[in-house]
Formats: sequence, C-alpha cells, structure tokens
Amino acid sequence: MLGLMQDWPLLIHRVIDHAAAQHANRPVVSRSVEGPLHRTTYAEIRRRALRLAKRLTREGVGLGDRVATLAWNTWRHLETWYGITGIGAIYHTVNPRLFEDQIVYIVNHAEDRLLFLDLTFVPMMERLQERLPTIARYVVLTDAAHMPATTLKNAVPYEEWLAEADEDFRWASFDENTAAGMCYTSGTTGHPKGVVYSHRSNVLHSMAALQPDMLGLSSRDIAMPVVPLFHANSWSFAFSAPMAGATLVLPGPKLDGPSIHELLVGERVTISAAVPTVWFALLQHLEKTGADLPDLQRVVIGGSACPRAVTQVFRDRYGVEVMHAWGMTEMSPLGSVCSMKPEYRALSGDAWLDVKQRVGYAPFTVEMKITDDEGRELPWDGTTFGRLKVRGPAVAKRYFRHEEDILDSDGFFDTGDVATIDPHGYVQIVDRNKDVIKSGGEWISSIELENLAVGHPDVAEAAVIGIPHPKWDERPLLIVVPKPGRTPKKDDLIAFMQGRIAKWWLPDDVAIVDEIPHTATGKIQKTTLRDLFRDYRLPGT
Ligand code: AMP
Repeated sequence: MLGLMQDWPLLIHRVIDHAAAQHANRPVVSRSVEGPLHRTTYAEIRRRALRLAKRLTREGVGLGDRVATLAWNTWRHLETWYGITGIGAIYHTVNPRLFEDQIVYIVNHAEDRLLFLDLTFVPMMERLQERLPTIARYVVLTDAAHMPATTLKNAVPYEEWLAEADEDFRWASFDENTAAGMCYTSGTTGHPKGVVYSHRSNVLHSMAALQPDMLGLSSRDIAMPVVPLFHANSWSFAFSAPMAGATLVLPGPKLDGPSIHELLVGERVTISAAVPTVWFALLQHLEKTGADLPDLQRVVIGGSACPRAVTQVFRDRYGVEVMHAWGMTEMSPLGSVCSMKPEYRALSGDAWLDVKQRVGYAPFTVEMKITDDEGRELPWDGTTFGRLKVRGPAVAKRYFRHEEDILDSDGFFDTGDVATIDPHGYVQIVDRNKDVIKSGGEWISSIELENLAVGHPDVAEAAVIGIPHPKWDERPLLIVVPKPGRTPKKDDLIAFMQGRIAKWWLPDDVAIVDEIPHTATGKIQKTTLRDLFRDYRLPGT
C-alpha cells in the first residue's frame, strides 16, 4: 500500500520559488568582477533565472545537456545554476585553478554545450577554445559596456543575451533523480573524475546541511560562502541559504584577507565558510592591522584540517566559533560538522579545543563506518583507526562515464581517508590513506604534525611528508613557510612540538621554504612536495 500524500518531486527550482515567495526581498550582495558591489534579491534572481531558462531553451539546450560555468561567486553565477537546472540541463562547474590540460579534458569529457565565463577567464578560454569542439557559444558574465573584444566563438555579453528572453516561462517538470550538476574531482593521479549530482541529492543534502547542528542557517543569518561554487556546490550554500532565506554575500574574485574582511564587516556577515588558507590570510590581516570581527559568529572550515591554533584564535580573540567540517566532492560534499552534543557541551578550554580538532559527526542522510583493509568493521572507541566509508542519498555511487560502481558490497563508498570515530560518533581524520607516514610499522599522522607546527608564532603554513629511511621505512620531514619577517629555527620548532606528541612522531628534520604548493581546491599538494624533495636525505642517512 502506498501513502496518500502528494507527489512533490525534490527539484531545485522549488528552492528559488520558495525563496522568492517567502524571502522575496532578502538581499543577495556580490562583489562584481567589474569591481563595485552589486545588490539584488531572491525574487529578482528567480525572475532572471526564468529568463535564462527560456533563453537557453531557444539556444537548443534542454534536458540532460551539460552547460559549463567558469566563474567566481556572484549573483550571475547563481542565476545560471537555477536557470540551467530549471530546464533539466546540468550545470558543470569548472574549477579555473585546474591546469589548462585538465580543463580541456573535463569540458570535453562532459561534452559541455555552452560555457558561461567571467571576464577574468576570457584570455584563458581564447587560448583553449580550439581544443573544445563541443562548446557552441561563450557567454561572458558581464554587460555590453564591459565586454572586451574577443575571438571566443559566438561570444555575447550575458546581459544582452539574457535580455533576448522574458520571464514568461514555466520550469520544466521531470523526475527528481534527473541529473542537476557536475563537478570533477581534482584527483592527484589519473584523469579527474566526474561526480553527477541529482536534483533529489542536492535538495536532500542542503536540507541536511540546514540542521542546527550542521550549518544551522536561518533567515536572520547573513551568510558569506567564500568557498567557491566550483568547489563541490559551495558546500550547499547556493541552495541552503535560499532555502532558509538567509541573506547571501558573494565575494566575487577577491579572496584575499583585506577584501574578505571588508565584506565581513561592511555587510555584517554572521556566518562564513572557506578552506583553511583563506582563514590564515584573514587572521594575518587582522593581526597586522588590529582590526576586529564585530558581527561574525561562526566560520565553517573544511576541505583540509583546521589547525587547533586557528580555532583557538577565532574563539579567544574574536569570539567566533569554528565549525570544523569534513566532506568531499563525492558527498555533495558535507559529511560531518563539529558542533557539541550534550555529552561535550559543558567542556571548556583545552578539552573543548580537543573536540573541535575532530570533524564532528554525521547528520541524518550520512552513514559511516571504519574498516580494516579486509573490510572488517572497527570499533568506535576514538583510538582504533581505519578506512572511513560512507553511504547516503547524496553520496556518489559511480563516476560519469565509468563502467563500475565505486561501492563495497554493503553500498559504502571508501573516502580514501583514515579516521577514528569516538563513542559519541565524532570523527577524527588521521590522514589521507596515501599521506600517512609509515614509520617502523606504525603510522604517523601528517595532519596532526602540521596542525601542531602552525601553532608556532613564526609559522605561516606547514606541511609534513614521509621521507624514505633505511631503518624505519619512512620518517617525517616538516616543511615550513615562515610568517613575513620571521626566521624560525629547526631546534625551536622541534622543541615547540616536543611534549605535545609522542617522541617518535617528532620530525627528523625541518625545511624552510617560501611557498607550499596547493591543489585547485586549496589543499597542500603532497605529490608535488614529494617530487620536490625526492633527492632529499634525512640527517644521518
Ligand atoms: P575534495 O573532494 O576536493 O573536497 O576533497 C575531499 C578530501 O579533503 C577528503 O577526502 C579529505 O581528505 C580532505 N578533507 C576535507 N575536509 C577535511 C578536514 N576537515 N580535515 C582533514 N581533511 C579534510
């Protein structure tokens, strides 16, 4: 017997319909690529998304077609997502920080029909367009006044193109399992792999993200996702903020400390989200200028481990709570957020920080387990570590155009992370499986050493890699970028770490560098570091 409730498929355009009905005049503020701040509302975003949907239909784009976006977080980028998905086409976010060959690969692999791009990327696409036969038109996200002379095929300024359609349009109707978005993972080996989100998975993921113990957004929040729309759905903000009716602040192309600070203060942002490197830059700016964060209440930090020192400075100096989050592109991406269950609520000081080092627990819609290499489940005791595996309605089961599913016999996806889970369900990420340092048959967490090292007052950023060792197999090398004007010494750094970790975890050596390489999503690029230090020998070997 079936239930007798309405058939109301979970479709993305219902999100913007809801925002326009219930939160019509809520502001969406963007730093435009052209420079000035731009202000609009959810009602206006919806009207323009309807026009966009109609205009795309006229272009011959329809159900199942892929449409690429190469753009910063702005109102125009947001409109494209709703317009594209509103006709059953698929937004494909292209990360501009990928190598050019990777961009060519993923656009061809996805067979994108049309590409929306910011002014920033016109020169790059002029270089690449000969290699992108499937793109029939380039729509530059600007108006006629700012449109550059360009050789891009069928190039038009977005505002002119959009003006060719009106908003008299009905969203298409289709099954909630229809594909809605695509994002390629920036894998360190092999070709990038396409993750395909559905309308249903994006809606469910965003509803899960809204729970009070997750992002906990409300209509009273002013939310600034610094995390780009091209980094795994901007961690749900493009959907969850309009669902909740939160004001949106979109930082456009300027992600440096002073620019982010200007928006946080000027727009009275209450919650923001970004990878650790963005917060390193902001905190350095605040330290240098003595500026404050008067309205900010919460920052969501994920994508890489958030160092303890960052959580502490936010709490003690600025009264801001860090929400440590973990996830991955294949998970839409949120897998867990660290908020305090009653069991931990009374904690303070260092004990509170200890819990905040973990990435929290899974919300309803994410199931987790840790296993050994043979797939046997391991206990949630906070010390036994194993492969972290996940299951849920917003977790990928197969990559685009791959033959095989990526699940084990129970339907779990192996995240590639090594983790512990404590008795209350809190996950601690020990390392990426391939980054963990294997010393004398035991494992050393590179993440834990990095987090500790950045707590040193002279250190701006730190990375740890395993270096081959004749006796121990591998030993840790600490690689450090000093803060401007500081010259940290090896002995000082080691002494700083001593007593805070097991003695045999202490790095064997320290290398001072000007810069640590990052991936397109802001993670430390360990493969490149290992290449750079391939000929390096540890002292005494
Ligand atoms: P991506 O798909 O590019 O977002 O990368 C996902 C990977 O980033 C995860 O599998 C983790 O290895 C890493 N990651 C994400 N969040 C965290 C975190 N809070 N702490 C440690 N690693 C993280």
